[in-house]
Amino acid sequence: MFNKLKDKFKDVINKFSDTPEEKVLIVDKKIEKDNSENEGVISKVRRAITTSKISESRFEEIFWELELGLLENNVAIEVIEKIKENLKLSIVDVAIEKSKIKNIIHDELKNSLKELFDENDFDIFKDITKKEGPYVILFVGVNGSGKTTTIVKIANLLKSNKVSSVLSASDTFRAAAIDQLQHHSKVLDIPIIKHDYGSDPSAVAFDSIKYAKSKNIDVVLIDTAGRNHSNTNLVEELKKINRISKPDLKIFVGESITGNDCIEQSKKFNDAIDLDGIILTKSDVDERGGTSISISYILGKPIFYNCTGQGYSDIEKFSVNKIMEALGW
Ligand code: GDP
Repeated sequence: MFNKLKDKFKDVINKFSDTPEEKVLIVDKKIEKDNSENEGVISKVRRAITTSKISESRFEEIFWELELGLLENNVAIEVIEKIKENLKLSIVDVAIEKSKIKNIIHDELKNSLKELFDENDFDIFKDITKKEGPYVILFVGVNGSGKTTTIVKIANLLKSNKVSSVLSASDTFRAAAIDQLQHHSKVLDIPIIKHDYGSDPSAVAFDSIKYAKSKNIDVVLIDTAGRNHSNTNLVEELKKINRISKPDLKIFVGESITGNDCIEQSKKFNDAIDLDGIILTKSDVDERGGTSISISYILGKPIFYNCTGQGYSDIEKFSVNKIMEALGW
C-alpha cells in the first residue's frame, strides 16, 4: 500500500526545493550589555542568505502533480483541498531559506496528513468492561463489504481475550447470510441466535440481547442486511434495529478498495444512525490506500480496525503511525 503515493510525495518535495534561489540581505539585531547604566546597545549585523520564493503559479503547477497522484490513489477531493490549502498558506510567496525549504514542506505535509485522523484512544475492550450487562455492537455496511467476516473476526478476538459473545443473525434478508454466520458459530464455538429467513431483524436482535442477559454473556454482535442507501425500507428497518437494540457501539464496515464509494456509503449510514466508528476491510488487496487517509476526516469518526485477509485473525488495530510510516514519514 502507498508505494506510488510515497514516491509522489518525495518527487513533489524535490521539485518545490528546486525553485530558483535569490540572495537577500537580512539584518540581525542584537542587544549588547555595556558596563554603564544603559540598558544595552543595539548592534546590527548584516548577512546574506539564499532564499527561494515559490510563486502561486509555480505552486499550482507542482501541486497539480501531487493532486493527480492523490486522486489516482482514492484520496477524497475534500482531503486534497485541505492538504493544498495548508501547504499554500505556509509556502506561497514567502521567502524561505533555501536550506530549510525541504524540511518545511516535509513537515507541513506531515502535519496535514496527521490531522486527517481522529486520534482518540478509544479501546473497545476497555469500553466493554465499563458496561454492566451485555455490551451491544451493531455492524452496518453494504453487501459484500466483508461485514459478516469482520463480525466473526471480532468474536474471535473477544474470545481470545476471554470476553464471551453471541452472534445475532439479523441479516434475515438473505438466507445465505444466516447460514454463513451459523457456519462460523460452529467453527468458533460461539452461540448464535437466528430466526427464519425473512423474519424481523429487530426481533432477532432483541432475542440475542435477552439471551446474553440470561447467560451472562459479555457482548452481542449484531449482523445486519447490506443496505443500499436508495432503498428507504431497508434504511427504516436499520433505524428500527437501532432503536430496539440501543447499541453501545455502531460500526460501519467498508471495503477500503472502493474509495469514494465507500466514503459515500458511510455518510448515508451515518445520516441514518449516527455511527461511532469504522472498520475497513480488504486492506490486503488495496494498493492505493486513499480510503484510509480520507474516511476519518470526512466522517469525523475514528477507524477502529483494519482487516487484512479472509482468516479469523486477519484484523489489526488501526494505527496512524503505521499509515504515516507507509507514506514515508
Ligand atoms: P458481507 O456481505 O458484507 O457480510 O461480506 P462477507 O463477510 O460475506 O465477505 C465478502 C467476501 O469478502 C468474502 O469472500 C470474504 O472472505 C471476503 N473478505 C472479507 N474481509 C476480507 C479482507 O479483509 N480481505 C480479503 N482479501 N477478503 C475479505
